[in-house]
Amino acid sequence: MTRGPRQATSYADKARLTAKPGANPPAVILVEPQLGENIGTAARAMMNCGLTDLRLVDPKQDWLSEKAVGASSGADSILKNARRFDTTEVAIADLQAVYATTARRREMVKTVMTARTAAADMRARSDAGMKLGLLFGRERVGLTNHELSLANHLVEVPLNPEHSSLNLAQAVLIVGYEWFQAGYDGPEAMTVLNRTQPATREALQELFEHMEKELILCGFLRNEAKRPSMIVNIRNMLQRAELTLQEVRTLHGMIVELRYGRRDDRPARQPGFKPEDDEEV
Ligand code: SAH
Repeated sequence: MTRGPRQATSYADKARLTAKPGANPPAVILVEPQLGENIGTAARAMMNCGLTDLRLVDPKQDWLSEKAVGASSGADSILKNARRFDTTEVAIADLQAVYATTARRREMVKTVMTARTAAADMRARSDAGMKLGLLFGRERVGLTNHELSLANHLVEVPLNPEHSSLNLAQAVLIVGYEWFQAGYDGPEAMTVLNRTQPATREALQELFEHMEKELILCGFLRNEAKRPSMIVNIRNMLQRAELTLQEVRTLHGMIVELRYGRRDDRPARQPGFKPEDDEEV
C-alpha cells in the first residue's frame, strides 16, 4: 500500500505535529531543593512537558551528581543548562509573571488557582510574549510566606484534602502536564493505524454483500421474514467495529475458508452446501 500524507502514529507524534510554534514555556524555579535525585526527576518531568529553563535557588546538593543525572533519565541537558541563584528574588528578576505552587492553603489574600486554570492563564500570557515562572518549594517545608508573596498567583493541585502534598518532581510533572495539555490541540482519541487505512464505504459494502450471500447459502439467514432486520443488525455490528481495509480483507478470507476450507481442500465442506449454488467455484 502506498503511504498517504504524513500521519501521526502516536500521541507524542501528534503533539510534535500540533505543537504551537513560538510557545514560550515558563521557567521552573526550585527553591532550596534538598536532594540531587529530586532535581534530576524534576528535570525529567520538565523534559516530558516541554519545559527547559531550570533555575535553582541555593540547592543543597549537586545537580550534576551521578545520582541527579541518573534520576533525570536522559534529561541531563536540562541539568547542564540549569542556573544557580543565591536568592529567589534574583532567580525571578527577569520574569513578568510568577506562579507559586503550594500544597496548603495559606492565610493570605491571594488568588489560588488550580493547575489547570493556571495553565490556561500562562498560555494566554506566554502567547502575549510574557516571560513566566513556576515556583516550587523545599521538599520538607515548601515555600515560605515571604516567597509566596513574591508571586502573582498561587497554584494548588486539588487533591485529597487529607493527603494533598506531592513529591517535588510529581508536582512539577502535574503542573507541567497541565501546561502541555493547554497547548495540545490534537485529537482526544486516536486509532493508531500503522500502515493500514480505514475501510472505504465501497470495501465495506462488498464485505456485507459477500457475507450476506454466504449466510444465505449456509442457511443462517433462512428465515426470509426476519432476514432484512438480521442483515441490518449484522451491518450495524460491523459498522461499530470501524474496520480497517486490512480487517475487511481478513474477514473476506475467513468467510471463504469457513466455506471451502483451505483452497487445496476444495470442494466445499459446509453441511448442505451445493456446489452449483456457487458461481465462484
Ligand atoms: N511539606 C510541604 C510540601 C512540600 S512538597 C508543604 O506542606 O508545603 C514540595 C513542593 O511541591 C511544594 O513546595 C510545592 O511547590 C509542590 N507541591 C506539592 N504538593 C502540591 C500540590 N498539591 N499543589 C501544588 N504544588 C504542590
